[in-house]
Amino acid sequence: MVRMDVVVIGAGAAGLMCAFSAAARGRQVLLLDHANKAGKKILMSGGGRCNFTNLYTEPANFLSGNPHFCKSALARYTQWDFIEMVSRHGVPYHEKKLGQLFCDNKASDILGMLLEECEQAGVDLRLETAVQNIDKTDDGYQLQTGAGPVACKSLVIATGGLSIPTLGASGFGYQVARQFGHSVLPTRAGLVPFTITEPQLKSMCEALSGTSVEDCLVSCNGQSFRENILFTHRGLSGPAILQASSYWEPGDAIEINLLPQLNLSEWLDEQRQERANTELRTLLGELFTRKMAGLLAEHWFVSKPLKQYSANELTMIAERLASWRLVPAGTEGYRTAEVTLGGVDTREVSSKTMESQKSPGLYFVGEVLDVTGHLGGFNFQWAWASGYAAAQFV
Ligand code: FAD
Repeated sequence: MVRMDVVVIGAGAAGLMCAFSAAARGRQVLLLDHANKAGKKILMSGGGRCNFTNLYTEPANFLSGNPHFCKSALARYTQWDFIEMVSRHGVPYHEKKLGQLFCDNKASDILGMLLEECEQAGVDLRLETAVQNIDKTDDGYQLQTGAGPVACKSLVIATGGLSIPTLGASGFGYQVARQFGHSVLPTRAGLVPFTITEPQLKSMCEALSGTSVEDCLVSCNGQSFRENILFTHRGLSGPAILQASSYWEPGDAIEINLLPQLNLSEWLDEQRQERANTELRTLLGELFTRKMAGLLAEHWFVSKPLKQYSANELTMIAERLASWRLVPAGTEGYRTAEVTLGGVDTREVSSKTMESQKSPGLYFVGEVLDVTGHLGGFNFQWAWASGYAAAQFV
């Protein structure tokens, strides 16, 4: 029987961070993953450039049934700590927008850095190794794995959420949590595109597939996000939509202000005075792509010269563009979601150490916990911070 101080299951962002940070403290660490490669999501992230953290990370950027839970770990291992490691490894990066830090080259720079840290610290990394069974022993845990039985004092579950099963996602972490008496809060896809089935809107989305509107304000259940939106064959996507999706429950409406930078009523009124003979379609063509303007003019309004609209009609046009309300049919689900909302209930886990309050020596880190970040590098920062926190105590 192999005996280790620590076994970490899941060689993703949180598991890698936890493994080398614990090994750097002198622990003997075995890091297991059932996939054939470590950190597959890191490689896919940020469009291949990995948005590895956010300069403005704050607890308010996270959703959780227990909003205070993330504070301690985020304060102990900050975005500046991760940036220091990235700089130490000479990985070139830049701020894209809104504090989002991306690699200049490839996401593999970040994965390479984490794997190098693992190697330097002496982490024993085993890929394509599944865990069949876990039992509690007097002084820790015993695992049956594809590589034989292993005993450890501390067991860290870093198996992530359910999003993108083709990248190795599984419900394994939730299963282990339940086995040791933990509650698992209902899970659902987050940071995910909406699907639309209402026929007229669906055909508009299909026709505009690939078109983005640069500056929109999307609101859902009291939360608003100002960024671009993107029409897709199936509905709506783009950063502002993805952010809103994390606050959306089936049946909820979302509201989109397509032109938050303008006071539309006033602006339309001015335009009517200055260019009375201009058609609404032409005017909209100055704000959106010509195709989108044409479709809006066709589906939403009757296009005619501005002088032919009453003040009331212009107000209604402004309202439609500034408060477009729609009820998505659903989301694209875990197939394309960037994250999983819900998960292991944080009320039964120590926010300082990530240790289970139900089963000593068992730890949960990363996305498997009910902590989900906004879009923009926050989810990785949670993975780094929670992985590091556990590593100080295993
Ligand atoms: P993961 O990184 O998912 O790692 C879990 C690991 O556990 C995997 O290696 C998996 O193979 C392994 N595993 C699962 N089940 C088992 C099992 N039964 N046995 C053994 N091993 C198992 N966040 C950002 O902050 N910035 C971004 O740019 C960004 N882009 C993203 C792009 C995409 C396409 C996706 C899907 C997500 C993106 N995210 C991004 C979210 C981010 O990737 C996750 O929040 C983060 O990877 C979670 O880290 P984790 O270690 O908890 O889980």
